[in-house]
Amino acid sequence: MAELTFLGAAAEVTGSCFLIAAQRTRFLVDCGLFQGGRDADDKNEAALDFDAGTLAFVILTHAHIDHSGLLPRLAARGFQGPVYATAPTVDLLGAMLPDSAHIQELDAEWARERAERDVRGGRGSGNVAGAPLYTVADAERCLRQLRAVEYGKPTQPAPGVRFRFRDAGHILGSAVVELWLDEPGGTRKIVFSGDLGQPGRPVMADPTPIPDADVLVVESTYGDRLHRTLATTYDEIAHVLTTTLPRGNVVIPAFAVGRTQEILHVLADLVRQGRSPGLTIFVDSPLATRATEITARYAALLDRESRDLAQWQTQHRDRVRVLFTETPQESKAINAVTRGAVIIAASGMCEGGRIRHHLRHNLGRDECAVVFTGFQARGTLGRQIVDGATRVRLFGADVAVRATVHTIGGLSAHGDQAALLQWLAGFREPPTATYVVHGERETATGFAQLVRDRLHFPAVIVPERGAHYRID
Ligand SMILES: [Zn+2]
Repeated sequence: MAELTFLGAAAEVTGSCFLIAAQRTRFLVDCGLFQGGRDADDKNEAALDFDAGTLAFVILTHAHIDHSGLLPRLAARGFQGPVYATAPTVDLLGAMLPDSAHIQELDAEWARERAERDVRGGRGSGNVAGAPLYTVADAERCLRQLRAVEYGKPTQPAPGVRFRFRDAGHILGSAVVELWLDEPGGTRKIVFSGDLGQPGRPVMADPTPIPDADVLVVESTYGDRLHRTLATTYDEIAHVLTTTLPRGNVVIPAFAVGRTQEILHVLADLVRQGRSPGLTIFVDSPLATRATEITARYAALLDRESRDLAQWQTQHRDRVRVLFTETPQESKAINAVTRGAVIIAASGMCEGGRIRHHLRHNLGRDECAVVFTGFQARGTLGRQIVDGATRVRLFGADVAVRATVHTIGGLSAHGDQAALLQWLAGFREPPTATYVVHGERETATGFAQLVRDRLHFPAVIVPERGAHYRID
């Protein structure tokens, strides 16, 4: 009898990783990094505590690091099989995994230096492991294991296992996985929602409804709330731009992949509609630049509206000036700009990356604005600011929060409660077992109750990390 083990995203939002041990084969669906919170490092160290060499393959739902970011570690620990993903996901990972590895290397170096400083200052024992979770070389090597699979195409990665990707509408290349296991008792269908998009959102298509499953694993990031409408989001962003830019800068922390491209779409659209003055936008993230190029290459997978807007933009480059900065020098030069700029940088939760420099220069100025457009996980700097911290730590210094802080929900890459319920209502028969993952504990638990009450699904479970269940 096959077994499903929840290695991550269990009563929390990051670290998506599910192990399936079937009759003849063992494999993973997603292999994500834990992010945010003090114990993320420990969880990342411990997450792949099994013989990686025995895994036959990995299926990835999408490129986000909390779904893919432990792949280089898996490969470094002996996994040699193929990793199946959609073509855009493969391309995005080509930029994202080396970038993630680079961050791991920098973090490790920083921790080592700090430990040495502490020893010299008579504090601490200097006992820091100092090894990164994985290296750029590990990441480059594991990219060779990626295999692109088209949406809708049935694929058989091993005897007795078939799967198919359906568009999840979350980010470019994101997929729902339909998986069939031939077991002694018959064939079982398992569906992994991956991350589901919000229907009607700019740029991305709507998530594909799935009609049937025996076992369902569904995300619940925003299972406890409704997003404001897109119209409200446009109003809010237009207001921030027109009131802030004459005096200060607008800083937008954003995931390099997905969110940055959406924000660029909304900003250009506001200018096109005459609701914002002409804009100067810095995209200060080499990864976001690569992701924007990859997104343009897959225009056929995007919605009609974004293709029209892209066309308009090529004819109005003076109205929407988008400056992609590459080198650290170019990035630092932005610090001299005190007003009139929109600065988009990663990471989206302000845990690392160039956004921290822009926060250091703008957060303490009451004429500036910081706009959050994505989920801020517990324990992250982004969450502290959103929760109203008046001072935060940046580069070892206290920085007062004087800029106005805006949280704009309508752009979320994740479906809200209504969208998740709508997608679940697409099942003609309730699955025999439904596992609610990828949500903070209270959110996942509340959403599970809602699915029982409203949709009458039997056996709706919020699994704990490490819990395993029989698939029958
Ligand atoms: Zn995602």
